[in-house]
Amino acid sequence: MSEQGDYCLICSVWVEQYVPIYCCGGGFDCGCMGQPTNPCVCSEECGEALFDINGSYEDRRIRYGIPDRSER
Ligand SMILES: [Zn+2]
Ligand SMILES: [Zn+2]
Repeated sequence: MSEQGDYCLICSVWVEQYVPIYCCGGGFDCGCMGQPTNPCVCSEECGEALFDINGSYEDRRIRYGIPDRSER
């Protein structure tokens, strides 16, 4: 079973080629909390917004001038 594909954390577009890479199962002795080590973003600009830790994902998207690309 493939777990490929997820939504961009910043602009919400579907990222077909995204494949999560997990550090481990998220044991108490690890800070990864079982989350992928490569958060899903669709582009370099969304990656920059993601690594700017100030504010919510939506705040960052707006601050970086990235449109909401969700198809809903
Ligand atoms: Zn994006
Ligand atoms: Zn880990």
